[in-house]
Amino acid sequence: MIPVTKTFLPPLEEYQQHLKEIWNSNQVANGGKLLFDLQRELKGFLGVDNMILTANGTLPLQIALKVLGEKGEVITTPFSYVATTSTIVWENCIPVFVDIHPEFLTIDETKIEAAITDKTTTILATHVFGNPCNVEQIEIIAKKHNLKVIYDAAHCFGVKYNGESLFNYGDISTCSFHATKIFHTGEGGAMFCKDEDLYKKLFYSHNFGHKGEEDFHGLGINAKMSELQAAMGLAVLPYVENLINNRKIIIENYDCLLNFEKLRKITIRKQSEWNYSYYPVIFENEEKLLMVQKALNNKKIYPRRYFYPSLNNLNYVAFQEMKISEDISNSILCLPLFTGIRKSEVEIISGIINNIV
Ligand SMILES: *Cc1c(COP(=O)(O)O)cnc(C)c1O
Repeated sequence: MIPVTKTFLPPLEEYQQHLKEIWNSNQVANGGKLLFDLQRELKGFLGVDNMILTANGTLPLQIALKVLGEKGEVITTPFSYVATTSTIVWENCIPVFVDIHPEFLTIDETKIEAAITDKTTTILATHVFGNPCNVEQIEIIAKKHNLKVIYDAAHCFGVKYNGESLFNYGDISTCSFHATKIFHTGEGGAMFCKDEDLYKKLFYSHNFGHKGEEDFHGLGINAKMSELQAAMGLAVLPYVENLINNRKIIIENYDCLLNFEKLRKITIRKQSEWNYSYYPVIFENEEKLLMVQKALNNKKIYPRRYFYPSLNNLNYVAFQEMKISEDISNSILCLPLFTGIRKSEVEIISGIINNIV
């Protein structure tokens, strides 16, 4: 059986070393030593200043929108994981979709201005598969119309743009440390922001609004990462660079083996250092995709239709036609990519695909 992804687990003894500290201190939650250690190490590794660790990658999206969205219209991409859209609706904001660029697969910034109304408060865009949005243009548009920018950077651990962390772009960036992501804490996540006042607001918000034990800054929720999650992060982090290099080699193998006459890949934006987080391929049409999926499943190989369906089709949003996103969603498949997949397995997968397309 070959799954689309497989969680990296560090050596058990190394995880246990970190757990021992929890047993010694008896501090299991509320920002103990392990959380601060992880925070310090991540800031160094990523090159970011303000970071708040969270219990998962969806809560920071919710907090960001709660703080910046003001229940208005939020311009967003239909091509992302469901959490991007569901958060907008969950926070009583209205998603206004803007179609994607057919090659970068990120929101098409040239179509954003046409979607702005006097109710628009925020742009919430996803760096799809770790591929940066056109952050420069989006910033110009946001400034011009006095909008806030939130990036769902769930896929972007380790991605650099113009030589610095992609998390440094936008008013707020969020990340997921879910077990399926490159760096993980089992469940977990983070939010990043440069502005000090906004950072404080986010920090209070993620801890019930507490500003000290008896004082409250305002409304808040519990989004705190526990020491147990931080222990996993500390055990995984030393391996991350290797994991990324490993994926690069696997992707180079796919690139050599697949026949790209009738198949295409995502275009990674220039000036970025990618993290090789996913290997999506785009078929001529859905029929081809379904044939490939069936042939692979027959050999117990399970690629994933990611992202499918296009989010403008969700039954809790007002339908807005998004031609390109729907076309891509219908014809894109993420191929198995994880540390430990063998070259021979990549050869088998590529052979099956080449035979069909
Ligand atoms: C994984 C993911 C999320 C959600 O993160 P969780 O940690 O699972 O809550 C949000 N957006 C995108 C694009 C994701 O891939």
